[in-house]
Amino acid sequence: MEKWQSIYKNNIRSFEALEKHIPLPNTLSPFPKFPLNIPLRIVDKIERGNFQDPLFLQFVPLSSELVATPGFGPDPVGDTASMKTPKLLHKYAKRALLLVSSACAMHCRYCFRQQFPYEKEVNSYDAEIEYLKNTPSISEVILSGGDPLSKSTPALTALIQKISAIPHIDLIRFHTRFPIGIPERITDDLLSVLTSIRQQVIFVLHVNHASEIDDDIKESIQKLLRAGIPVLTQSVLLRGINNTKNALKELMLTSVTSGMIPYYLHQHDRVQHTAHFEVDPEEGLGLIEALRKELPGYAIPRYVQEQAGHASKTPLHSIESLEPQEV
Ligand code: SF4
Repeated sequence: MEKWQSIYKNNIRSFEALEKHIPLPNTLSPFPKFPLNIPLRIVDKIERGNFQDPLFLQFVPLSSELVATPGFGPDPVGDTASMKTPKLLHKYAKRALLLVSSACAMHCRYCFRQQFPYEKEVNSYDAEIEYLKNTPSISEVILSGGDPLSKSTPALTALIQKISAIPHIDLIRFHTRFPIGIPERITDDLLSVLTSIRQQVIFVLHVNHASEIDDDIKESIQKLLRAGIPVLTQSVLLRGINNTKNALKELMLTSVTSGMIPYYLHQHDRVQHTAHFEVDPEEGLGLIEALRKELPGYAIPRYVQEQAGHASKTPLHSIESLEPQEV
């Protein structure tokens, strides 16, 4: 077992285990449908007794999850309609997204795929590789999930080698949150696989608050950069977590000084039982405007919304765009 796998095995997965580390409020969700799953590194960063801590709110299931809200549903971005095989989504012209695994380093309470009907965990991607081979218009494969880095290195290597043998694939992108919870996952073995293939590899790290980033995480980002792998960020605008100018500014500055380029700030996807996280897009635009006054352009993410059936993400760049239009 690799070191990161034993760390992962020790994730906190019950309230009983969690309350040995931090005090818990009496507003917990009694039987969360999306199970509790937090790496110890994250638990250690939660301020004891602060039930508004941005990490506490992102990862601890609270009774606010019991509320069902009209307009929210199980598949807010139309994933199931774009499934071409059990583990491949093809939404956008040149890119396909592979659901490599349903497992994650941590369970984020706002996750838009928390109700996704993942196929039973298997290591076979035959149907997906066939689809990619037979669709020459696809030049980029996004490895997502769940989290692709939850796969063992040998299983991931086998998959990457199959993808990299397809002549029309030029880019392989990882959408991952693993290095934020378990940065030990960026191993030399993994890096040597990623640098042994013809394709350019790109990492997009999901990070929502500056307090998630510590020195070990910075070191894992530097390892990726030294291997020639650009590292971008994607964040979700979340009420009570990062919907202030200062929280976003600190997140973007910490990302940039750690070697990452802010890529996307997502408007929250309306998955059922997460309405308490939603921020009004008008407020989001105001925050982006405030950031523009204080940060260099490269530190400002694109504020976007994903809409089911649309051919690309919709940029939210002005009050007029709140009546979203494709570009
Ligand atoms: S890591 Fe990503 S896929 Fe996994 S629970 Fe969090 S948001 Fe969802």
